[in-house]
Amino acid sequence: MTQLPMHETLPFDEATTPPRVSTGDLPMHAEIRQLVTDAYERYRGESSGSVADYIPVLAEASPDLFGIAVVGPWGRSFEIGDVAAQFSIQSVSKPFVFALVCDTLGYEEARLRLGVNSTGFPFNSLMAVELNAERTMNPLVNAGAIATTSLAPGATAEEKWTSIRERLSMFAGRELGINAEVYASESATNMRNQGIAHLLKSYERLYFDPDEATDVYTRQCSLDVTVHDLAVMAATLANGGVNPATGETVIRPGVCRRVLAVMSSAGLYELSGDWLYQVGVPGKSGVSGGIVTVAPGKGGLATYSPPLDAAGNSIRGQLATKYLAERLGLNLFASVPAEGSPPQF
Ligand code: GLU
Repeated sequence: MTQLPMHETLPFDEATTPPRVSTGDLPMHAEIRQLVTDAYERYRGESSGSVADYIPVLAEASPDLFGIAVVGPWGRSFEIGDVAAQFSIQSVSKPFVFALVCDTLGYEEARLRLGVNSTGFPFNSLMAVELNAERTMNPLVNAGAIATTSLAPGATAEEKWTSIRERLSMFAGRELGINAEVYASESATNMRNQGIAHLLKSYERLYFDPDEATDVYTRQCSLDVTVHDLAVMAATLANGGVNPATGETVIRPGVCRRVLAVMSSAGLYELSGDWLYQVGVPGKSGVSGGIVTVAPGKGGLATYSPPLDAAGNSIRGQLATKYLAERLGLNLFASVPAEGSPPQF
């Protein structure tokens, strides 16, 4: 076969060639600080939404709590509001446990056993399992997440729990502990998740004892975090798996990519399409009010505010993230910087 001549234009000489994956940088520190402050002031008075109450103890959270944290690739953090408030991580744990399982099984095997397509159904849907011929879900809704937890490294529930707690702690850069009150409250009321686990087991899509897998999943959701912890966890995914605060390698870069892909298509429950359209960055929300957002190569953003929309996403968190993603230039689909105020793509 004749080789066609290749025409190339080289915009950079070898010495100045930028990295192969170039997503640019965050703005200067003073600007980030100002934007984080603006986002907080702008949305702290927002009062719509309601605090989750299907796990009884979550209903006790103050609807006024609001915190924002941004962590850049060198570990520098910018935060405002209720940054010391601890809350249970809930579904925000899911991408990080999926990362652990991908790292262990390989991301192709993980895809085959767990599925990666969005379901279009609420996070705790049994119908979604019934309607999918493969009976797989994705790691970010309850069915897929309990299946993911069932694949965590370890032969016993205790070993699985230890591997999850240790890896999530590495993502956060500090030892995470369980919120005993949340764990007790959710354990007493999680019959639906138990049902999901048994249904998956009947289709051979759960890879451990269903009651024990649900229990480890409930513990994982009960880990206490701050908004700063979540931003460091997000920044670790943004940073190819190296925690920017500790310098520790937590996960391989190839795993990060796959985790971010699933967060893009399924991170905000059944409103994930709206989120990707409006914000343009992988995210994951949880029913206690946390949202993490990952801008690959740039950094992690986290918000905490308990009042939720009907799908389970924090209202102030979505507003503040959208505001910041536009102004910090996080949208993955933007080929030119946003201009004007408010920024227009
Ligand atoms: N532990 C919660 C549940 O399984 C997590 C839900 C969520 O944050 O989406 O119901």
